[in-house]
Amino acid sequence: MANSQHANFDAVIVGAGFAGMYMLHSLRDKLGLSARVYETGNGIGGTWYWNRYPGARCDSDSYVYCYMFDQRLLREWEWSERYPEQPEILRYLNHVADRFDLRKDIRFNTRVTEARFDENANRWTIRTEAGEVVTAKYFIGAVGCLSASNLPKFKGLETYQGKHYHTGHWPHDGVDFTARRVGIIGTGATAVQAIPVIAQQAKRLTVFQRTPNFCVPARNGKVDPEVANARKADYDAIRERIRNSSFGFELSFIEKSALEASPEERERTFNAMWDQGGFSFWLANYQDMFFSKEANEVCAEFLRGKIRETVKDPAIAEKLIPKTYLYGTKRQPLDSNYFETFNKPNVLLVDVNETPIEEITPRGIRTSDREHELDIIVFATGFDAMTGPLKKIDIRGRGGQTLSRKWDDGPHSYLGVAVAGFPNMFTITGPGSPSVMSNMPVSIEQHVEWITGCIEHMRQHGLATMEARTDAEAQWTAHVAEVANASLFPTADSWYLGANIPGKPRVFMPYLGGVGPYRQKCDEVAAKEYEGFTFTA
Ligand code: FAD
Ligand code: NAP
Repeated sequence: MANSQHANFDAVIVGAGFAGMYMLHSLRDKLGLSARVYETGNGIGGTWYWNRYPGARCDSDSYVYCYMFDQRLLREWEWSERYPEQPEILRYLNHVADRFDLRKDIRFNTRVTEARFDENANRWTIRTEAGEVVTAKYFIGAVGCLSASNLPKFKGLETYQGKHYHTGHWPHDGVDFTARRVGIIGTGATAVQAIPVIAQQAKRLTVFQRTPNFCVPARNGKVDPEVANARKADYDAIRERIRNSSFGFELSFIEKSALEASPEERERTFNAMWDQGGFSFWLANYQDMFFSKEANEVCAEFLRGKIRETVKDPAIAEKLIPKTYLYGTKRQPLDSNYFETFNKPNVLLVDVNETPIEEITPRGIRTSDREHELDIIVFATGFDAMTGPLKKIDIRGRGGQTLSRKWDDGPHSYLGVAVAGFPNMFTITGPGSPSVMSNMPVSIEQHVEWITGCIEHMRQHGLATMEARTDAEAQWTAHVAEVANASLFPTADSWYLGANIPGKPRVFMPYLGGVGPYRQKCDEVAAKEYEGFTFTA
């Protein structure tokens, strides 16, 4: 057994992104527990360690895309832009790791492959790919919702003689596109960021689009120092507002139906949100946008008009206009010159519904009508979201039941944080919690603090195990589905439902009930001596 001196921990945490880092700090420095983090990557940062593609930056405003648990940290860090680029976010997270001396308890380059609950010892045994074995009372998944990249099986990929990259595993020394013929598959939030930047460098960029996206301008830029200072002075109030909000932002819906507003009023409102940029068009629009197809349609039509205004060739504009799903039911990408990029002479749009990709050849990509010769192929094909990273670990709870098997028909979870039959296991931003339907650091902090509360409760009462009850889990899972089904979200083939992964059960995974109400529910559960959980002494 490797490192036997420290082979038994109070807690083992998997993942060293926003979630795992704060979980480590919380358990080690607030509760004084022994904790070890395992991380596949060779550094901290998670999403911001892996996603180094050109144009990668956050879509959440930087003043809320950060930890809020420490006043000094909040005040000392200066963001350079409204949406900082990946290197800056990674620098921030490294600053946090330094500040709280986190690295000494993180094992990098180490993938956790197995975790088994031992019912006699009431402990988890955790194995790594390299064969290290440790035990822990608590097993905590901080594996990320978007960390298992999805590389679809394209016939002939192994024969391709050029270079190919997935955006979620981008080389650390970058990729030089100068004078290259580049192909990119995918037009999700990642590709929307990457395409304008790659198009500036590449000799030719061919975009292979399956589903077009409604995009809203990010409107990135420097933040006025006066605004930044005012926010710093007001952080306590900002934190309260975002913690009790719907989506973890300082945004709330217009308390009116889109259909009640006159066309002139709507136009003014839409244009104001369009000019403001960011998520307001998506998350602070008329309140019935996610519930009424007619209300949704007027929002969609405004955005279609913007695409038609921006893209010079009407035939290309039509291809870029979404027609197969309702606005906002797929994640809203923010763009900087995305549609403008299709006016460039070196950019070609291929609609793979018209001319499907048949195979990847040694020289490029063959669609049904021709071969596209390419020096580089970029796969911006997304992730096996939410359940993917957890299912990749062989997790076994009571009676040897595997999590993967239990979730065969979709995730079952109590509050998105605990699973019946898997005692002392917690999932940070697991399926069934607001997670990806929120500004994630807000949801991550809430989960970490709530889990810390559970563990402190167990310590104070000398408890050996804490486990979600099957009935509580079933009720919560049904509630998550009920809330989703009351909205228009499940009508789209999105990754929120696993629709991007062949064979994945079609279940809406995040909780749509809102960050504030969810927090309240978790607090009530804790106040009622952890209602819905059983404990053993
Ligand atoms: P991650 O950052 O994904 O970290 C999880 C870590 O766990 C990874 O490093 C992974 O290597 C490790 N891991 C997983 N399995 C194992 C294993 N078996 N063994 C060892 N290690 C393992 N959210 C927002 O709210 N706003 C944004 O603007 C935003 N921008 C994003 C941009 C991109 C390109 C992407 C992909 C996502 C973005 N997100 C955004 C979502 C983002 O994932 C979260 O904001 C946040 O970074 C998640 O942190 P995390 O710690 O939960 O997970
Ligand atoms: P994504 O939204 O899942 O997009 C993947 C793209 O690849 C889609 O256009 C998809 O088409 C296409 N695709 C997948 N398989 C294909 C195939 N076999 N053939 C052709 N096309 C295929 O993934 P993503 O863009 O990486 O974004 C994932 C999530 O990460 C985002 O929604 C967001 O939450 C987060 N993210 C955030 C930011 C940010 O905040 N700054 C940036 C990037 C990503 P279909 O739509 O038809 O499936």
